[in-house]
Amino acid sequence: MNCIFCKIAAGEIPATIVHQDEHVVAFRDLNPQAPTHILIIPRRHIATVNDLAEADAATVGRLFLAARRIAAELGFAADGYRLVMNTNAAAGQTVFHIHLHLLAGRNFAWPPG
Ligand code: AMP
Repeated sequence: MNCIFCKIAAGEIPATIVHQDEHVVAFRDLNPQAPTHILIIPRRHIATVNDLAEADAATVGRLFLAARRIAAELGFAADGYRLVMNTNAAAGQTVFHIHLHLLAGRNFAWPPG
């Protein structure tokens, strides 16, 4: 499978990894949209939210628990941060391995663009 995020999770291509464990890898986005922009992915390949099964509930939960941990470690938990997961073309998904964007370090507008 030719998935760039699977390759990052496997250590086959470089990334600035900020957290990893048995299930989850978190690394800095190459094209940051905020002073802190981290992508949190499951090691296991899941293309989009549309492909999630009931059995993936714990996997998705771990993405959010990793976000909570990183926010605390990097010191922006109290100020606030934004978590985003884009799905398919209308939302602008470009990498088809689910990833939770963790954005922090500035104020974010709502509604989003
Ligand atoms: P999305 O548009 O939600 O699919 O987000 C994909 C994100 O992956 C974008 O913010 C890209 O900047 C980021 N990205 C793509 N390739 C890499 C890479 N090799 N390392 C880090 N971030 C990447």
